[in-house]
Amino acid sequence: MKEYVDLLHNNYPAVSYIFVFLFGIVVGSFLNVCIYRIPEQQSIVTVPSHCMSCGKKLHWYELIPLFSWIFLRGKCRGCKAKISAQYPLVEAANGLLWCLVLFMKGPTLDFVLICALFSALLVMGFIDARTMEIPNGIVIFILLIAVLRALLHIFIYKEPWLDFVLGSVIMGGVFFLILFISNGRAMGGGDVKLMFAIGLFLGLKLTVFGLVAACVVGSVIHLTLMAVKKVGRQLAFGPYLAIGFAISVLWGNLFINWYMTKFFV
Ligand SMILES: [Zn+2]
Repeated sequence: MKEYVDLLHNNYPAVSYIFVFLFGIVVGSFLNVCIYRIPEQQSIVTVPSHCMSCGKKLHWYELIPLFSWIFLRGKCRGCKAKISAQYPLVEAANGLLWCLVLFMKGPTLDFVLICALFSALLVMGFIDARTMEIPNGIVIFILLIAVLRALLHIFIYKEPWLDFVLGSVIMGGVFFLILFISNGRAMGGGDVKLMFAIGLFLGLKLTVFGLVAACVVGSVIHLTLMAVKKVGRQLAFGPYLAIGFAISVLWGNLFINWYMTKFFV
């Protein structure tokens, strides 16, 4: 199977990118469902898709990711209520991110696991931005793919296991300590579990790099927002963590190697 995938990707890269993009926006439309329903504790599989204002059930042609929203010009066919631009945005973002991962990693097992992580981070970022909470379900999902990825890298790619173990133990431990000392004021228990899972997925080096990237991106964006839109000091850190870890997976090693050769050789 691996040979066929490589053959297709090497000879017809456009085909594999289009396929990944289309599959990405289909999953993206499921991510929208997760973003809206997980905080409401609604089922993400059994309730059929419906208009948020009039409750009209949606036909199959109103459920085509990205294209339906454009075709309907962002309005419900029943009640003409506006459909949030967040729907096509999340779908397009997921499709484009998956293409970016394909570009960076090629058609490998690692590519599949990183795509899964990116989609989970996308959902986490949007939910945390709205509710200031990181849902348990997302953390458990990230933990699951982290275990798979650590096994893949240790047993198939033959990488040292220590970095992954240290990543989860140290990151989880440090954040647990902050939680304990601050008596839950600095962060929630969700952050501790998230750091444990991310630490296992990325390993120690890349997790630390991701945190630094999140702080840099977070302060730049938040300070700009505070100046322009007069938003408060209250900061949902989840979206920035998501961006930081995504940067770290794709470019972290590149940056760390560049930094090491520049300053330590
Ligand atoms: Zn409607």
